[in-house]
This record gives sequence, C-alpha cells and structure tokens, in this order.
Amino acid sequence: MKLFAVVGNPIQHSLSPVIHAQFAQQTGIELEYTRLLAPVDGFVATLKQFQQQGGYGVNITSPFKREAADWVEVLTERAAEARAVNTILFRPDGVRVGDNTDGVGLVTDLTRYFKAPLNGKRILLLGAGGAAQGVLGPLLRERPLSLTISNRTVDKAEVLAESFSQVGPINACHWTELRNGIFDIIINATSASLQDEKLNLPNSLLNSNVLCYDMVYGKGVTPFLQWANAQNAICLDGLGMLVEQAAESFYIWHHIKPNTKPVLLGLTKQLVNI
Ligand code: NDP
Repeated sequence: MKLFAVVGNPIQHSLSPVIHAQFAQQTGIELEYTRLLAPVDGFVATLKQFQQQGGYGVNITSPFKREAADWVEVLTERAAEARAVNTILFRPDGVRVGDNTDGVGLVTDLTRYFKAPLNGKRILLLGAGGAAQGVLGPLLRERPLSLTISNRTVDKAEVLAESFSQVGPINACHWTELRNGIFDIIINATSASLQDEKLNLPNSLLNSNVLCYDMVYGKGVTPFLQWANAQNAICLDGLGMLVEQAAESFYIWHHIKPNTKPVLLGLTKQLVNI
C-alpha cells in the first residue's frame, strides 16, 4: 500500500488525511495517509525518515514550504516560480520532485465563488510566507487590476513584489499603509488565525461588496472573519482551497482527478456540526 503524509508544525488541525481517504475511496485506490509533526528545526530529518520507510508522497504545510523547496532535487515550473513546495513525490529512483498546488486550489475556489475569472479585481494578499508565495503567480495570471501584498515583516512582502513584478501588476505596502486602500478581495495568507490572533486591520478596508477570504479552515469563525463579518463583508474560509489543492496533489501522485464537490460538501456539513 502506498504511504502518504502531511507534514507541518502544528499539524493536528490538518484535514488532508480525511480528504485523501475520501478521494481514495472514490477512485478505488489503496493508500495510507497520516499526519506528521516535524520539529521546527527537524523538517529534513523527519522527511528523510519517512522516505526511508517507503513514503510515496507528502504534502507540506506551515512553516516548511520554503524549506521543502530547498530540499527537493527537482522543482516543477510552478514550484520554482513560487520557491515554495506543498507537494512532494518520492520517485522510485529516490529523486524528490517538488510541486505547488496551492495556487490552483485558491484560484479554483475563488472563481467558483465569483462564477467568473478574477480579471479586473483589486486583490489584497496579507502574509508573505510559503502559502502567499505559492498563490502569487496563479493570482497574477488571472489578470487582476492590482495585487497588493502586505506583511507584518514588510521586507518580505517587498522582496516578493519585486520577484513577481514581471508576471503582473503587483506592489507591496506596510500594514499601516492600508488605511486608504480599496480592494474587492482580501486574502488572509498569514498563520495568525491558527493562533487565534487578530490582525488589527483598518475597518475602512471593508464594505458589503468586499470578499474576505481566510486561508485557514476548520477553526470556525476566525478572528479575521469575525472582523470581516462585523463590517458586513462577505466571508469565506479556506476549506474549498484545501480540497482543490488536495485534488491536484492526488492527480500528481495517482494520475486521476477526483471529484471535489461531494468531499467539500461533506466536510462543510461536518464542520458546521462540530
Ligand atoms: P508560514 O509560516 O510560511 O508564513 C506565515 C505568515 O504569517 C508570515 O507572513 C508571517 O509574517 C505571518 N504571521 C504569522 N503570525 C502573524 C501574526 N500574529 N500577525 C501577523 N502576521 C502573522 O505559513 P504558510 O504561508 O505556509 O501558511 C499560512 C497560513 O495559510 C496557515 O495558516 C496555513 O494553514 C494556511 N494555508 C491554507 C491552505 C488551504 O488550502 N486552505 C493552503 C496553504 C496554507 P512574518 O513574515 O512577519 O513572520
């Protein structure tokens, strides 16, 4: 039986094992998919051990996506652009291939919501970690009117804006400079919601036409979505992105596209009832 895992720190919250088990059932593939907690300074050691035990593939989550990009031997085009990896395939010859499916996952979920492409939208992306890096290229290829990236540590946002400047209209700004911004979509790609922390963003950013998207999922109404809800903005969590990026990883490993609709529907119902 093929072995898979999702690796991160923290990791208990991850729904990836549940999703991959459902895809496997749907497609008749036998597999085992577990959660692996890696120490913050022990990512490579944890993955080497998993590979030696016969691991076939892993998903990578916070905070290891950039470290994973440095560790694999081969990067797909989209992972090389992102310099962040969320999916690794351990080839039979031992070679590690890194890919990034976060961008496909987010864009599929957002276009499903809007029932249209994202061209002409003004997008604000909060955060400059591995998840943000993975979605910048795919978001810019949707041809938004503008993409602003803002991060607690502003230098990281500036570096990302510079490195993606050839792909589309991107700029970076400090958290405190957001006050006068006008956006159609605000995406929280920070891990603040995982720690139940507030971002202290200006209320002037919001109105009932703004979509606030928290990449975090399964945490109920996160502080970011509470803030959005209080200003009557539209709220969406990252469950749809999670299921879509998982489907793309599944395709990389098994060459079969699972049906995401029933899985997303089932998880949404399950989380509402918790
Ligand atoms: P990283 O650890 O690589 O990056 C974390 C980011 O969050 C950094 O930009 C960091 O800023 C910022 N941050 C952390 N805490 C705070 C805080 N208290 N206030 C403001 N900013 C903060 O994580 P990832 O990029 O890999 O993941 C980010 C989040 O996205 C995670 O919660 C993850 O679960 C979620 N995610 C969801 C996916 C889905 O499918 N739904 C897919 C991918 C990710 P700084 O640089 O200043 O430290």
